[in-house]
Amino acid sequence: MSRHSGLAERVGTPLYVYDLDRLEAARRDLFAALPDGFDVFYALKANPHPEIARALREGDGPACRAEVSSAGELSAALEAGFPADECLYTGPGKTGPELRGAIARGVRLFSVESLGDLRHIGAAATAAKVVTRCLLRINSAHAEATSSIRMTGVPTQFGIDAETLPDVLPRLREVAGTRIVGAHFFPLSNAADEDSLIAAFENTLAVAAGLRRDHGLPLELLDIGGGFAVPYGTPGRRAAYPKLKSALRDALDRHFPDPTDRPRLACESGRYLVGDSGSLHCSVVNIKESRGRTFVILDAGINTFGGMSGLGRLLPVAVEPQSQDGDDPAGPPRPAAQTASLVGPLCTPGDVLGRRVELPDLAEGDLVTVPNAGAYGPTASLLGFLGRPAPAEALVRGEELVSLTRLEQRRVDESGPL
Ligand SMILES: *Cc1c(COP(=O)(O)O)cnc(C)c1O
Repeated sequence: MSRHSGLAERVGTPLYVYDLDRLEAARRDLFAALPDGFDVFYALKANPHPEIARALREGDGPACRAEVSSAGELSAALEAGFPADECLYTGPGKTGPELRGAIARGVRLFSVESLGDLRHIGAAATAAKVVTRCLLRINSAHAEATSSIRMTGVPTQFGIDAETLPDVLPRLREVAGTRIVGAHFFPLSNAADEDSLIAAFENTLAVAAGLRRDHGLPLELLDIGGGFAVPYGTPGRRAAYPKLKSALRDALDRHFPDPTDRPRLACESGRYLVGDSGSLHCSVVNIKESRGRTFVILDAGINTFGGMSGLGRLLPVAVEPQSQDGDDPAGPPRPAAQTASLVGPLCTPGDVLGRRVELPDLAEGDLVTVPNAGAYGPTASLLGFLGRPAPAEALVRGEELVSLTRLEQRRVDESGPL
């Protein structure tokens, strides 16, 4: 039996289970893959559960910092115990009220996406009589690597195009309430291929060193981004990066040869740190045939594991019968007995987790598990659509249930005179 089927039966499905021991293993592995002295920012976007964020800060070994991009993520980070001065605040559309709020709560490090964004930060800082430290997010001219989500070298709402920096830097340096202390790159996401990841980081270090040398870009802190990969809703293991540490050391020696004049280095990760700690437990509600096709209908659809379905990325997801230790994301593949559409309970034909998915024999009432579901789960789903309750989220450590929570949406009544 799966270790967590008892819990799923007791609490009901759909149920996310996050295993804190796995989370800590991911954190250890990521720090071990990096040269000493790197900061790692945990991107709360991947999973803002405060107890998950807390586990990435506390415990043995180097602690993560927090990367947040909204008032809600900042609240989660603070609740998780991150001091505000360990938070990096990012995002292309930071508003005046959220900036004033973040500064009032103590945030002083921001990633800046444009001159306008820097001016907004500066205005909020000046009003609070503080000076913020700002990283310029830079959109390199050339993307060296390929990945499923690529964000540089193309027109984008993110960052300042590297080729325009020489022109714009003097104006950026004059914005009151801000001091430019470094650069932030985020060229790719989910790079399972180590050579692509290394090539992207090497390119980033070369571009950053060149901008400092040729244009005087300040570089006390250099955030080289991330891209560390883990399967998403399918079986398999986190990517391994055995060559990364020495490749980064070599690239640093090449581009920043004077160790006394080197920026502090940081990278960031969401999915790698949390993805394989989580599994989604759900139930088969119904099985039906339609015109030669089998539909397996679960009690969890894109309202529960949406896979950022708003982005039009169809997952597809794998499920494993819970009776066969379905909580080991890297367990042996189960023999497929059928090919079926795996769908959720919502009244929309878009509620599809996968078409033509290879599935084991299933019957109504069976518990099944979606492996590697710790990142981009509930908060990346259409939680409010069709009014089903949010899935429960359980944190476990060994045999202990550490917390059991459920997100709630409420309508807040602020009506009154127009
Ligand atoms: C989304 C995002 C991350 C996290 O990405 P993962 O693929 O989950 O590691 C990190 N940094 C920035 C700037 C992001 O937008």
